[in-house]
Amino acid sequence: MNYDIVIIGAGTAGLTAAIYAARAGKKVLILENEGIGGQIATSPKVENYPGFSEISGMEFSDRLYEQASALGVELELDKAEKITDNGDTKTVKTEYGEFSCKAVIIATGVKHRHLGIEAEEKYMGRGVSYCAVCDGAFYKGKDVAVVGGGNSAVQSAIMLSNICNKVYLIHRRDEFRCEKKLSDEVRAIENIELVLNSTVQDLKGEGKLTTVITENKSGEVREISAEGLFVLVGQIPENAAFADIITLDDSGYIVAGEDCKTNVEGIFAAGDCRTKAIRQLTTAAADGSVAALAACNM
Ligand SMILES: Cc1cc2nc3c(=O)[nH]c(=O)nc-3n(C[C@H](O)[C@H](O)[C@H](O)COP(=O)(O)OP(=O)(O)OC[C@H]3O[C@@H](n4cnc5c(N)ncnc54)[C@H](O)[C@@H]3O)c2cc1C
Repeated sequence: MNYDIVIIGAGTAGLTAAIYAARAGKKVLILENEGIGGQIATSPKVENYPGFSEISGMEFSDRLYEQASALGVELELDKAEKITDNGDTKTVKTEYGEFSCKAVIIATGVKHRHLGIEAEEKYMGRGVSYCAVCDGAFYKGKDVAVVGGGNSAVQSAIMLSNICNKVYLIHRRDEFRCEKKLSDEVRAIENIELVLNSTVQDLKGEGKLTTVITENKSGEVREISAEGLFVLVGQIPENAAFADIITLDDSGYIVAGEDCKTNVEGIFAAGDCRTKAIRQLTTAAADGSVAALAACNM
């Protein structure tokens, strides 16, 4: 046996799990296929994590990793490709190797679907955001736009309408995909303007976003003055590699409750990758601790 616990993903959930497991005296390996820190490493500012009134996402990630590393947690920059359940032991096959362990914690997070326009990357963190709960407060009293037509987009527009001066909700169809109650609610809010049958074509601004350019189905181009654009066009969980062994829901999230247990004993799911209502740093950290303490008992 190589390790007591193998953790897949070095985001907030995975690193928190590593800290808890290492402090319980376990031999821990984290596998990470992109960059240490996960999603939050790309965020310029975090203001809602208890204990830090303001911290950059990169510093937050670095601190988590330093804490785990100082406790003896090992890290391999390698992609987990398959998990095999051998009863009391599990094997995690990666791109470059194979690791056996008593328990596996999957903490693979999600990717946010992008609009795919060239300017999007340029204004990321300079007006373009993928999370209204995280970044909405930075736009207090300002005009912003939200793009998307599902529950997340509509809920975010409603939430932002309480903080911002004006919210433009841009959607490519004339009907929302969200629950009817939300759709009725959003249509009744005075400072939300619906920009329907429209797509975002381009973004403009000197250094920071100031203008969102849309085009409707009739080909009419409109310049919307907005300092923030919240792109809420879907999240993509990346758990397909494990679908042969653990149960995923229709959207690809790992089916696991607050106890982080999957359908296979000894395999846990923590953070954004599992079925849950709120995907935030606090809930990822909470899952990491719950999954680690359960994995320590295997
Ligand atoms: C721009 C931005 C700003 C945000 N701001 C805030 C904020 O201010 N406050 C807040 O609470 N939340 C914020 N969030 C949300 C928060 O970042 C997430 O809820 C949190 O990162 C989830 O942590 P996680 O560990 O579950 O997943 P992630 O952070 O997504 O980490 C998962 C990790 O797993 C790795 N991985 C995936 N598949 C594999 C594989 N097969 N093998 C090996 N490694 C793998 C990924 O590369 C990634 O590093 C923000 C998100 C974004 C994108």
